[in-house]
Amino acid sequence: MNLNSIPAFTDNYIWVLSQDNGQCLIVDPGEAAPVLKAVQENQWQPVAILLTHHHHDHVGGVKELRESFPGLVVYGPEETQDKGATHIVREGDRVDVLGCEFSVIATPGHTSGHVCFFSDPYLFSGDTLFSGGCGRLFEGTPTQMYQSLKKITALPDHTIICCAHEYTLANMKFSLSILPDDPAVNDYFSEVNELRAKNQKTLPVILKNERKINLFLRTDDIDLIEKISEETNLQQPEQRFAWLRSKKDDF
Ligand code: ZN
Ligand code: FE
Repeated sequence: MNLNSIPAFTDNYIWVLSQDNGQCLIVDPGEAAPVLKAVQENQWQPVAILLTHHHHDHVGGVKELRESFPGLVVYGPEETQDKGATHIVREGDRVDVLGCEFSVIATPGHTSGHVCFFSDPYLFSGDTLFSGGCGRLFEGTPTQMYQSLKKITALPDHTIICCAHEYTLANMKFSLSILPDDPAVNDYFSEVNELRAKNQKTLPVILKNERKINLFLRTDDIDLIEKISEETNLQQPEQRFAWLRSKKDDF
């Protein structure tokens, strides 16, 4: 299996898993044009689309791709039904694509129906988990998002996280504002700063590393608890998550 990412809009990635025989699977095609171009260049044959949620920058290209490739099967949560999904998926469903079995993980928070797709080692996390951050809470509650992220951190260390946006640098700037002396945060900030200065991608990332640098996955971290206690006294990890998320909203 080969993992590819196609840049779209200003900071989206459309992920493509392809086999040596050219058959491929496309994740969250927010626009069709860059996908059609990559398909032609690589001589791919798209067989399926996976959709994580209903936002335009993730589903905008579906209709045109279905017209170009009439056999395409489109898996997505219920909220993507009118965005071109042909097969509705729910928590715990298993989806067979390209000989891989993907499990559907319900991850409400960014939207109420958001799902992630996992087939060891690949996780397509949409707008739930970003490197160094997480999605904004447009429809869900902080507690829902906290629990969604818990499901993701429980996956194997070697999980390859394919996020839908290149937000890493901004997320690490925010993280530095919260924990300016944290060695892991500082090292990762320098690393992504250098990559972005050369206009290189910071994704995908490995879950084992992400747990160390992503403050939204570190709600039980002693330094973070101490930092929050300078402002307020929050006992529950989901309360600390909510505090962090609202700080990021205002950053
Ligand atoms: Zn979104
Ligand atoms: Fe998005």
